[in-house]
Amino acid sequence: MTFDDHLLRAKDDLGRLVAIPSVSAKGQNLSECASAVRDLLAGAGFQTETHPGEIGPFVVGETGSGPLTVMIYNHYDVQPEDPVAQWHSPPFELSERDGRWHGRGAADDKGEFVSRLAGWRLFREQYPDPLPFRLIWLVDGEEEIGSPSLEAFLKKRFSGDEVDVCWWEYGEIDSSGRPIILCGFKGVMAVELRCRTAKADLHSSLGAVFDNPLWRLAAATASLRDGSGRITIDGFYDAVRQPVRGEADHVGDPPFSLDSLVQATGGQRMLDGIDEITFYHAMNFAPCMNVNGFSGGYAGEGAKTVLPSEGAVKIDFRLVPDQDPQAIVSLLRAHLDRRGFEDVELIVHDANVKPVRSSTSHWFVQEAKDLLERHFGKPPIVQPSSPASGTAHPFVEQLGAEIVGIGLTHHGAMLHSPNENIIVGQFEATVRFAASLFGMLAQRADSMMRQGRSIVR
Ligand SMILES: [Zn+2]
Repeated sequence: MTFDDHLLRAKDDLGRLVAIPSVSAKGQNLSECASAVRDLLAGAGFQTETHPGEIGPFVVGETGSGPLTVMIYNHYDVQPEDPVAQWHSPPFELSERDGRWHGRGAADDKGEFVSRLAGWRLFREQYPDPLPFRLIWLVDGEEEIGSPSLEAFLKKRFSGDEVDVCWWEYGEIDSSGRPIILCGFKGVMAVELRCRTAKADLHSSLGAVFDNPLWRLAAATASLRDGSGRITIDGFYDAVRQPVRGEADHVGDPPFSLDSLVQATGGQRMLDGIDEITFYHAMNFAPCMNVNGFSGGYAGEGAKTVLPSEGAVKIDFRLVPDQDPQAIVSLLRAHLDRRGFEDVELIVHDANVKPVRSSTSHWFVQEAKDLLERHFGKPPIVQPSSPASGTAHPFVEQLGAEIVGIGLTHHGAMLHSPNENIIVGQFEATVRFAASLFGMLAQRADSMMRQGRSIVR
């Protein structure tokens, strides 16, 4: 098959997957999409299995054996297509215009999956059996709803397994076409503070006698962070792992400017100490705390003088290695109690996503860097951590994997939005890259075997 034949086939695969509206939030068409993915993997030479999840099944493909174990993680579920009216073509139909393929899942994550699969087929043409390394391909059906059964599934299906590298479900390409190698994610913790000071809302004149729940929540919230953005919860920074030299080097020369970030976001007030260099360091390495919203009392039109009986504030934290979300919950409770806020109730909405950061000097990162430069014609950016989060910690904790995200999601890909798209030229480069990456793994496994080493981590 020529490269163009491979591409045509990949486009056809992607078209068929995009046409299945596998929206996990609605539990829609998940088994159908799982079996389409399973067929694709089986057709590419993998032993396949399907396992039930809470909402959508997991598909596993496996092949090869040897001194290296690599896992590829993808997902076949997608975000809802709403608002449909804003799509320029039907969301569940792959359509090409302006050198791009549009459709829900074109990037996230069906496009990522298919580009790797096409690369795999290309590689297999040059490199027939036996495959000298073990490749496990795990395709999740619940990623867009937070992968509720992933951790338990990994424990059950892969207990005792060790994985050298997990090729993460997505990766980014910046606006100038430079691929980004992502080595980590922040953790998340989302909580709500609630306070009640009376049975019912009172006449505001009674504010001369009784305390106000919104005042208490404002004071409690203000006690959590100082004006410069530093979090003041006792012990909050104790577990923060300082970046090692190699990691820190990668942020010394930000791949985009603070100005471009300001332009893109419209953000206006920087935290203290944020400048042209430190902003990127903070995006990679600094935990942060956000107040998401206050509620309670009267916030409607005009004035209504009232002493509210209750109020709430929602807060999220982005955490960095090795902060544990559950431990931070305990620190937060202790902090509130010590400051006289024992009456403020703490409700935990999410404390399950732990931060991870793999080594930027890992061999997989170094090899991938050279291959990306070859196929994209530009030196890639190595990014120690995404400022955002992903459920990657079970792969690290249970399988001992290094997490590395490389893929085709460009900065205008409109993930989760109308007109999701990928750039065809970048898809092609990603297919070629994937084929070379598999080749590199085979070569590495071969030479490990020649040297008689069974496991090199
Ligand atoms: Zn997504």
